[in-house]
Amino acid sequence: MNEFVESRLHFKRKVMVVDDEEINRKILEKILSPEYEVILAENGDEAMALVRENKDTLSIILLDLLMPGTDGFSVLGMIQGDVELKHIPVIVLTSETTAEVQSLKMGAADFIPKPYNVPEVILARIGKTIQLYESIDIVSATQYDELTGLYNKDYFMEYASVIDQYYPDTGMDAIVLDINRFHVLNELYGRAFGDRLLKMIGNSVRGYIMDKKGIACRYNADGFLVYMPHTESPEKLFLAITDHISGELNDARMRIRMGIYPEADKKLDLHKRFDRALFACNSVKGDYSRQIACYDTEMHEQEAYNERLAGDMEKALGERQFIVYYQPKFNIQGDEPYLSSAEALIRWKHPELGMISPGKFIPIFEENGMIRRLDRFVWREAARQVAEWKDKYGIAVPVSVNVSRVDLMKPGFVDEITGILKDCGIGPKEYMLEVTESAYTEDSDRIISIVNELRTLGFTIEMDDFGTGYSSLNMLSSLPIDVLKLDMRFVRDIHENEKDLRMVELIVDIAKYLNLKVVAEGVEKKEQYALLKDAGVHIIQGFYFSRPVPDGEFEKFIEERKGKRV
Ligand code: C2E
Ligand code: MG
Ligand code: MG
Repeated sequence: MNEFVESRLHFKRKVMVVDDEEINRKILEKILSPEYEVILAENGDEAMALVRENKDTLSIILLDLLMPGTDGFSVLGMIQGDVELKHIPVIVLTSETTAEVQSLKMGAADFIPKPYNVPEVILARIGKTIQLYESIDIVSATQYDELTGLYNKDYFMEYASVIDQYYPDTGMDAIVLDINRFHVLNELYGRAFGDRLLKMIGNSVRGYIMDKKGIACRYNADGFLVYMPHTESPEKLFLAITDHISGELNDARMRIRMGIYPEADKKLDLHKRFDRALFACNSVKGDYSRQIACYDTEMHEQEAYNERLAGDMEKALGERQFIVYYQPKFNIQGDEPYLSSAEALIRWKHPELGMISPGKFIPIFEENGMIRRLDRFVWREAARQVAEWKDKYGIAVPVSVNVSRVDLMKPGFVDEITGILKDCGIGPKEYMLEVTESAYTEDSDRIISIVNELRTLGFTIEMDDFGTGYSSLNMLSSLPIDVLKLDMRFVRDIHENEKDLRMVELIVDIAKYLNLKVVAEGVEKKEQYALLKDAGVHIIQGFYFSRPVPDGEFEKFIEERKGKRV
């Protein structure tokens, strides 16, 4: 519950009782006055005058329906018809079922049957109605998402907390739905298409949850949240959506993911519950065999581990637990392979958890924004190393560093990198930048303009993990890059799978046409190396030559190269 609701819970609220019979007014006053400030009215006209006078402070009206003169129905009608008054909930007091139904249809919030024999029930009904109206009141101004007609996120969260209050014992599922690479779809097929898709998904979500007492909203442009009573078959929601949009899903690029936190722990903050559903949703991100995941104990442990790493980073930087390793890249197009450059790869020597690979911690730091600090450390360290080797051996071994999408999007990146090189006394030809392919496809305009600027300054840009990020061919021809770094999965089976080999040959051809160099990574076997050489790949990086090693160990490659004098 937000602060505003909370603050409103702690003062004595004003309740108005409208009844023509004095004995009824007295009974209700006696029941209510310990908890509420009570105003009494004995007929419809007096009631309306008092309602107008107290419209900003009145929390609820208890209204007798049968009164001489202006009766309860007329009062209810006048309140509902007045935009300044209709936010005040009205509970009708009656002994007749037909009148109850009619008044509810006219907008009454609830009814209390006469005679008033159980004061606790009356107090409970009044209390709940007040709470419900106050919560809704706050957010109703911006209740809906325009595009899909679902709730917006704030309203959804508020509503979910109201549901929790009213149904504390009902098990609820927190669900997150997400469209993979929605940006790309927008870019490839246009915004109108993206909007249409979101609307269709919104409609199928609404249709599905309607009779299940669930609520839904859109969040972050292409995501949806659902809060609904627990079901054993959450995949039905997923199928309802995919059935509805199957016509649009022909394109393999379009995938929907769903994460469920079933029977969410209500002691946990609501946002946290949806974080868990999101965690489950993200766990199937790169997985082509699964689109649905439930938050379970394994994920819980994973999350705790991630939180631990995030918490330890600051100290680790201070204590120099992070170390930069270097993996050599060899040029293979001559008679004999020779060292051409290196890639800087970070390692974390954690005092308790041991050696942690970047695949485990980089995604966490990308998410929480700490990646910039970590990368800054690597960039500096790598630049310093290039300068040191240059000094010691008299040759420059260019080193490439990984730049995450998050780094590129932050203002000041170009100044930062150029500043580092200047401090270390090296030039952009001795320092290369690897940008993963998916960065280009996610925020292409921004990324392209920054990368263009870097190239103008003389930097070599390598597109990392090429083949995993869905660049289209026409995109490739207009992207500012110098090198394509083939993702490892192209290389893995190249010696056993003819198709993979053809694919690599094709990519090399395209690269030649576009004037790009090709680097293959993940080369482990001699056969792979031979085939890649024949296919025309320029540079190779992989365990076949060497694993990533500490700087001292790397020096043997420099010495070797010096000996060869290439
Ligand atoms: P990447 O940039 O594509 O780096 C190549 C990864 O392949 C490295 O994993 C490397 O150790 C591994 N590798 C190299 N040769 C072989 C091989 O022959 N076989 C196999 N199976 N693997 C090979 P690593 O060091 O675990 O890094 C994983 C990823 O983490 C990197 O992928 C990169 O995306 C990211 N990363 C590493 N260091 C940094 C960093 O300083 N900053 C950022 N932002 N990301 C980093
Ligand atoms: Mg890389
Ligand atoms: Mg790579």
